[in-house]
Amino acid sequence: MKKVSPVIASERSYIVEKEKSIPVSEYYGEDTFSYKVMQEKLPKETYKKLMDIIHEGKTLDIETANIVAHAMKEWAISKGATHFAHWFQPMTGMTAEKHDSFADPVGIGEVVEKFSGKQLVQGEPDASSFPSGGIRATFEARGYTAWDISSPAFIRRCGISTTLCIPTVFISYTGEALDKKTPLLRSNKAVSKSAVNMLKLLGNKKVKKVFSTLGPEQEYFLIDMDYFYKRQDLLLCGRTVVGAPPAKGQELEDQYFGSIKERISSYMHDVEEELFKFGIPAKTRHNEVAPSQFEIAPVFEEANLAVDHNQLVMDTIKSVAKKHGLAALLHEKPFARINGSGKHLNWSLSDDSGNNLLSPGDKPHDNLQFLVFLIAIISAVYKHADILRASVSSYANDHRLGANEAPPAIISVFLGDQLTKILADIEAGVVTKATDQEIIDLGVSAVPVVSKDNTDRNRTSPFAFTGNKFEFRAVGSSQSISFPAVVINTIVAESLDDLAEKIKVKGDNINQAVFDVLKAEIKQIKPVLFNGDNYTKEWEVEAAKRKLPNAKTTPVALKALITDKALNLFKKYEVLSNVELKSRYLIYVEKYIKALEIEVKCLKNVCLSQIVPVTSAYQKTLTDTIKGIRDTIGGKSDVTVQQEILKTSMDLLNKVYKTMKEILTQVETASAIHDEAKKAEMLCSKVKTKMDELREYVDALEEIVDDELWPLPKFWEMLFIS
Ligand code: ADP
Ligand code: MG
Repeated sequence: MKKVSPVIASERSYIVEKEKSIPVSEYYGEDTFSYKVMQEKLPKETYKKLMDIIHEGKTLDIETANIVAHAMKEWAISKGATHFAHWFQPMTGMTAEKHDSFADPVGIGEVVEKFSGKQLVQGEPDASSFPSGGIRATFEARGYTAWDISSPAFIRRCGISTTLCIPTVFISYTGEALDKKTPLLRSNKAVSKSAVNMLKLLGNKKVKKVFSTLGPEQEYFLIDMDYFYKRQDLLLCGRTVVGAPPAKGQELEDQYFGSIKERISSYMHDVEEELFKFGIPAKTRHNEVAPSQFEIAPVFEEANLAVDHNQLVMDTIKSVAKKHGLAALLHEKPFARINGSGKHLNWSLSDDSGNNLLSPGDKPHDNLQFLVFLIAIISAVYKHADILRASVSSYANDHRLGANEAPPAIISVFLGDQLTKILADIEAGVVTKATDQEIIDLGVSAVPVVSKDNTDRNRTSPFAFTGNKFEFRAVGSSQSISFPAVVINTIVAESLDDLAEKIKVKGDNINQAVFDVLKAEIKQIKPVLFNGDNYTKEWEVEAAKRKLPNAKTTPVALKALITDKALNLFKKYEVLSNVELKSRYLIYVEKYIKALEIEVKCLKNVCLSQIVPVTSAYQKTLTDTIKGIRDTIGGKSDVTVQQEILKTSMDLLNKVYKTMKEILTQVETASAIHDEAKKAEMLCSKVKTKMDELREYVDALEEIVDDELWPLPKFWEMLFIS
């Protein structure tokens, strides 16, 4: 097989000439129908009405919708759009869109561009093929999309086509959520209500609304596109199912934060330009730990917007890569034995004046409030660590979590020394100095002044407090951040309510009541606090003693979604009904099975149609050589080299074939299991382990078979040639 010549790959020119450099501030958000554009394009009273609807959750009337639709259409057409699309996030984890032309025939041979309020507000895509987990039978295939006013419409350019995209929710005929956005909006409402109640209880009467904020740090790999297309595993599964590690990996730590190569810099620039046009505040970019691994992080935004934007970030990372002759890999573990990719999800709560509720303040009272929210969150994680774990479960993320580079499946909370000490002091009722900070006496009890502590970092913790936000590090790089955010919002809502109830029964002296409740709460929840190294075996043992859940695989972890505890929680907060949550569970289980089965088929194709023939051909060369040498030089010639390699390769090839057959038999057995959960568990325990074993044999072959013959681009080529 003809391989990509490293020389050609490295000499290809990707220097992108820029016509002129325009300051970002001049084009930022130019492709979104932002508040600014709305204010410009809409009549004053319509704009005011729309703002009320957005901020106060009022309902949209059809007259207003018609006016907005008209303005939106005119604006979109001025940007070159020919079509509009409801843009939604079905349970595939991707986004979906169905384009409709603005052009509408009026008589023969004539069209006018039309876009009505009704078309803006509601759509009815033929949605029978999206996963619904049994909610929607095929005879009732209708799904509805409805405009999410809180996320601005935007212009999407793809090749020469330009489309107006309208963010929408996606629900069934009977009103069940079929998407990732609906529960997120509901969870925002839930956490807002509980947080506002808590703030009121603490004496903060001004706040009307609280919202969660998200800042996802997106990791990804880039490889030359030619290599990508030569590997069906990367193309079809997103990761390499075989492949030996390169001689040099990340051990020299020369990639992390290293200077960014020219081709990559140009690529990143292009990505950011696209994102800026969408009004996505891309902020930081850098090389990550593994070779050819990178990260992009935006400034945090309100959760709903952040989720939509992260989907666009992932799309843009992929689409712009093509223009640069690159392939972007968002998979959690594209290369075995090389660091995988995650998506640290920074989460916090903000009030309607933009105050971060997890930002320790200067005034004692702010600190009391801060401590209440902090402890509510820790308590939520303690009670629902299993659900949090489930929210990041996927076949792909299983390859990464706990692989000595990413947090383990045990969800614990890191607080850092200062806060740990403060909590311990509160628990013990000791009035001491919290590290070197002052204690302020509220007259009833002592509240330490908490200062923002950004220096204290623990990169191994799955859920770390990082100064003014929590960072959930177990999230996978390719997954939508919606569900993890839904879970955090919902469990925190419950936790705030629980604390509020406890505070209320303590009586009128609110500060004392809060203090007493926090004291008792800390005692209960402290097993979930862990500041040490989460990667160690000792922690696993210790966590088991503390009875923290440790679901190592997705089939086990997902069960947390269908416990009574979870079903009641999501129902109570009207985030997901029992039917919706159960259907989601099923969708995730099915997705796991499908991902694994696709990999098995791919592995089979790679082994039987690529590895076996190539190894056999090499064996023939070896036998021909041995025979040739003996024929030419004499029967006793030393052909040890060829003989040993021949024997090793025969042994490995037999093992490849035998293991492959075992895998296929197991998959066959699994296909007879009708309970999907049992099937997933069986595939996980029996097949996944065998796939790892098979890989060892193939990778050993890769190291001895003639490099000229090897049919797959190797890790060193993919990761180091740029
Ligand atoms: P790192 O974790 O890599 O050291 P930073 O701590 O600087 O990086 O921040 C990482 C991310 O945290 C950024 O994307 C930022 O927008 C986000 N972030 C900062 N404040 C908040 C907040 N209040 N809510 C949500 N995300 C936040
Ligand atoms: Mg981070």
